Amino acid sequence: MNYYSLNYNSSLVGFLGAVRKGLAPDRGLYFPEKIPLLSEDFINNITNFSNHELALNVINPFVQNDIPKERLKSIVEETLNFDFPIIPISDSIASLELFHGPTLAFKDVGARFMARCLAYAHEVREQKKLTILVATSGDTGGAVADGFFKVEGIDVVILYPKGKVSEVQKKQLTTLGENITALEIDGTFDECQNMVKSVFIDPEITKNITLTSANSINIARWLAQMFYYFIAYKNRPNPRKELIVSVPSGNFGNLCAGLVAHKMGLPIKHFIACTNINDTVPRYLDSGNYEPKKSISTISNAMDVGDPSNFIRIQKLFNNDFQKLKKEISGYAFSDPQTRKAIKEIHTKSKYIADPHGALSYLGLKTYLEGLEKDTAQGIFFETAHPIKFAPTVEATLKLKIDPPKQIEKVLDKPSLSIPISDYKSLKDFFLAR
Ligand SMILES: *Cc1c(COP(=O)(O)O)cnc(C)c1O
Repeated sequence: MNYYSLNYNSSLVGFLGAVRKGLAPDRGLYFPEKIPLLSEDFINNITNFSNHELALNVINPFVQNDIPKERLKSIVEETLNFDFPIIPISDSIASLELFHGPTLAFKDVGARFMARCLAYAHEVREQKKLTILVATSGDTGGAVADGFFKVEGIDVVILYPKGKVSEVQKKQLTTLGENITALEIDGTFDECQNMVKSVFIDPEITKNITLTSANSINIARWLAQMFYYFIAYKNRPNPRKELIVSVPSGNFGNLCAGLVAHKMGLPIKHFIACTNINDTVPRYLDSGNYEPKKSISTISNAMDVGDPSNFIRIQKLFNNDFQKLKKEISGYAFSDPQTRKAIKEIHTKSKYIADPHGALSYLGLKTYLEGLEKDTAQGIFFETAHPIKFAPTVEATLKLKIDPPKQIEKVLDKPSLSIPISDYKSLKDFFLAR
């Protein structure tokens, strides 16, 4: 399988080439030359496959000879080494919990998969040490740090904004040590991101250090998210009803992976794209005009994105045909008060404790299902983070205390190790000293 740049000005690369580069040299996102089709037989017998077998079959055509199948099998097994339970909320709505990984957010799957693919690339090609550079507003950094921890041949440098990540997130970023370095930036997330961009184009730094990014545009992170949709379909509570999937969206990598799964032949009837008031995509679905705007802070902060980076891939999947796209996807945007109300409603109905991102996707799903004429659909919303990661909001809304899961206890009493960085000059000095 080859990948081309959506700016159409870089040469084709194979799977591992695209994973190593992240972004194409012409700054475009990589896109597969074709979307493979799964056989009807495979779909009809989906319940006979384990999660590992499913994932291997789904990802193998995208990787092909770049990683031998036996090795890809163990990569997939190590990536998906936790549960993905489906919890019923009402007759027609269930939650697919994607947060049982080591950092309690769904980003663990993509980060773990990418880390293991890169480790293989390093082994067989004996290339120079690779430095992963990433800015985080919270969840990405933790998942990347954990996913790449102790991976041979790879160093990770994470920039996070001082005072703007939660206590749990900070611990997840700063307590690992070894090949993971956390830099505490005196600034906002946007400033962290700008610093990362400046490092990538700073010849004095890139002369000696091979850099790549681990954000959600990397094809290994993007495509591994297809697994959720196959697991959702396999374990859906009502196999006789049509399946509707609702996805809380920020950069739209997750939803875009679902659309790839659909194009491969997975029978998902409709997709719901839910956002907070950073509503660029829902507005686009209304008007046909894509008008990004500056991001605004909300209680579902992993989705505070004004210009979703993966949206161009979604448009490509539909060959830029707005009418076709609109048929498959409905968009909803909700405010913080609506999100809090949804957290309460879910808890009252079923005792289920949702985090703000999951609650918002529940709300979009419920709104859509209520608009259908007949009760012929089964809805599944993605619960993308454990509520403990947003404990202040959830506990204040429900007036209760959330039990900390074991993954949290592991990091809470470890000391934080981070290096304070005040401006670009001190960041540059940090790299030049390495
Ligand atoms: C990153 C994230 C999202 C948004 O996912 P995208 O693929 O960027 O759309 C949603 N929920 C949580 C908890 C996240 O960490």
